[in-house]
Amino acid sequence: MDLFRAPPPPTSATSPSLSTFEPVSGPPAPIAPKRVCAVCGGPLRAGARKEARSCSGKCRIIACRQRRHSHLLNRLAVAEAALSAAAEAVAALRPIAAQGPHVTASLAVSGGGK
Ligand SMILES: [Zn+2]
Repeated sequence: MDLFRAPPPPTSATSPSLSTFEPVSGPPAPIAPKRVCAVCGGPLRAGARKEARSCSGKCRIIACRQRRHSHLLNRLAVAEAALSAAAEAVAALRPIAAQGPHVTASLAVSGGGK
């Protein structure tokens, strides 16, 4: 009788802390079990392709436009960065150029006269 009562103490003391550390309901799945439309949030059809992210042709077109728009925004950001860099270069060169041909010749500005 005592043998059946004896075992629990040491193991039961440590196991609860482990079970609270790890969620009992199961770890969150890395892949979302339910796939939803990236545009409207509606459920995707069961037969949808693995790479499909929209529920219908309408949502697919909207997603395509959004993707194109974000691509455009990226290009715009790149162009703006290049423009500001060019503006800085102009701002740096302008005072040198304003000092006249003798100064620019002595400075040997890169890309200058050969
Ligand atoms: Zn949709």
